[in-house]
Amino acid sequence: MIPASFAYARPTSVDEALQAIASGGEDVKILAGGQSLIPVMRLRLAAPETVVDLGRIPELKGVREDGDAIVIGAMTTHAEVLADPLVRQFALLITEATETVADRQVRHRGTFGGALAHADPAGDLPAVALALDAEFVVAGSGGRRTVPASEFFVDYLTTTLGEGEILVEVRIPKLTGQWGMHYEKFQRVAQAWSIVAVAAAVRRDDGHIAEARIGLTNMGPTPLRARAAEEALAGADASAEAIAAAAERAAEGTSPSSDLNAAADYRQHLARVLTRRAVSKAAGL
Ligand SMILES: Cc1cc2nc3c(=O)[nH]c(=O)nc-3n(C[C@H](O)[C@H](O)[C@H](O)COP(=O)(O)OP(=O)(O)OC[C@H]3O[C@@H](n4cnc5c(N)ncnc54)[C@H](O)[C@@H]3O)c2cc1C
Repeated sequence: MIPASFAYARPTSVDEALQAIASGGEDVKILAGGQSLIPVMRLRLAAPETVVDLGRIPELKGVREDGDAIVIGAMTTHAEVLADPLVRQFALLITEATETVADRQVRHRGTFGGALAHADPAGDLPAVALALDAEFVVAGSGGRRTVPASEFFVDYLTTTLGEGEILVEVRIPKLTGQWGMHYEKFQRVAQAWSIVAVAAAVRRDDGHIAEARIGLTNMGPTPLRARAAEEALAGADASAEAIAAAAERAAEGTSPSSDLNAAADYRQHLARVLTRRAVSKAAGL
């Protein structure tokens, strides 16, 4: 189907974009890579009065170092993130998860910020951002604010982004030293969305696990941290037995949906199995 007609703005700065949104009428949509927005417009599930395309704003593109963090611009495409050496060096989880997102065509157009702002519970990057304690820089008419990942994802397809706000960039603290990371995704066929996936970052200290961070994909309306498993891992032996015991707690506090791909209790089973695998690999076992 063809989308309903709409006005189109292509600003070249964040300020211009905010103005275009403010003057765009009742229903304004921000366009990033269009991989999620354009299909819903073609189905006429969305019929915005104005579309504000962020594609020509240089400030929103690219990856840079900023002290103890790396900063990824919202309009950086999945393909650019994949090729970036800073991301690979300091946030390997993002590289590994992005490799599993869709196919080359979608990764060429789809953006890091668009995937996070869209907040699909089956999307791979939200749980990764949560596990890495990322911070989201958001611009609005009142200026800029920084939101921790733990507060960014509010509900199904819903974030803390308010009307007229733009996600500008995401700051990811560098994980250096004894950190290992791994993203473990369970999908029906290659290039499909996650049925469940687990993002693990583990800091080893001698033969122990000093700290573990575990993000869960598709285990509820928002991405979740597997807090009970994280607590069980803190200070535990870096052994297969200790990791398996902690992973048994991975589904505590989750509320996954049941659908044609999997029943809720099967998703909880998957969360335990994938947590064991992701943490073991992150811990170098
Ligand atoms: C066939 C297919 C398979 C896919 N498989 C996967 C998969 O396996 N895993 C996965 O994680 N994803 C998958 N995706 C989604 C993909 O990651 C998209 O890139 C992502 O959903 C949306 O990114 P986008 O840049 O295209 O955003 P758009 O579609 O342009 O925008 C999505 C939404 O976010 C809003 N938005 C975008 N950018 C901003 C911003 N900077 N500030 C405020 N709001 C903003 C838009 O207004 C819109 O509501 C798939 C998509 C397709 C088409």
